[in-house]
Amino acid sequence: MYWVPVYLKNTFWAGMSTTQRSESMNAFFDGYVHSGTTLKEFVDQFDNALRKKVENEMAADFHSFNCTVPCISHLPVEKKFQAVYTNSKFKEVQSEVMEIIYSHCVVIKTEGAITTYQVNDQRVVEDGIEKSTLQAYFNEDECEAKCMCGLFEMRWIICRHILSIFAARDVQVLPEKYIMERWKKDIKRRYGLIRSSYDDLSGKPAASRYSGLIKLCYQVATNACENEDNSLDMTQKLKAMNDIYTKSKP
Ligand SMILES: [Zn+2]
Repeated sequence: MYWVPVYLKNTFWAGMSTTQRSESMNAFFDGYVHSGTTLKEFVDQFDNALRKKVENEMAADFHSFNCTVPCISHLPVEKKFQAVYTNSKFKEVQSEVMEIIYSHCVVIKTEGAITTYQVNDQRVVEDGIEKSTLQAYFNEDECEAKCMCGLFEMRWIICRHILSIFAARDVQVLPEKYIMERWKKDIKRRYGLIRSSYDDLSGKPAASRYSGLIKLCYQVATNACENEDNSLDMTQKLKAMNDIYTKSKP
């Protein structure tokens, strides 16, 4: 399926390296597409797969509002991510927080506001422990760190090395640049995401109707969830509507 990446817009695979992209794509299309799938079938199946993905993400995001994943450190930086990120993204940040104990930073030199660090890192690989040394920089004026491991540039998740420098420098306020809009548990952001994902499927009226309906449902749910009676009312009405639409399916 070499034509698949052409069909997809970059934004859809945001934050993934090329290898991760093809792995994710395989997982994404698993059960929807096989080697004999025609382009026409693919477009239909892509629509189904994308819809499922958006639905799963929305369910996960909704869950993020009701259930908080506990912090594993007392670092203010972790607490900030806990407050703003969806649970699944916060867990990815946490796996880096956990690795700080294996990530030891040593000052190499300081020139003006810029301090150069050597970060000694260890990670568990199949046949033991792999040790590595990386270079990282901290700009005191901007309270910004840059790490050569590239995790942040590739996946937009702060890496253990930057976290370890922040811990060493006792950074209390996480700089805004490390908080990615796309990973926030923010309903309004979701409207945008769904719209843009479905924009890729221009000429598919069902997709565009779906996008409009979801937007409306979010608005209604946002208002209804404030109050138990309204939530119950919305649930009952939606279930009744669903019964009608299920029966009228061709
Ligand atoms: Zn790093």
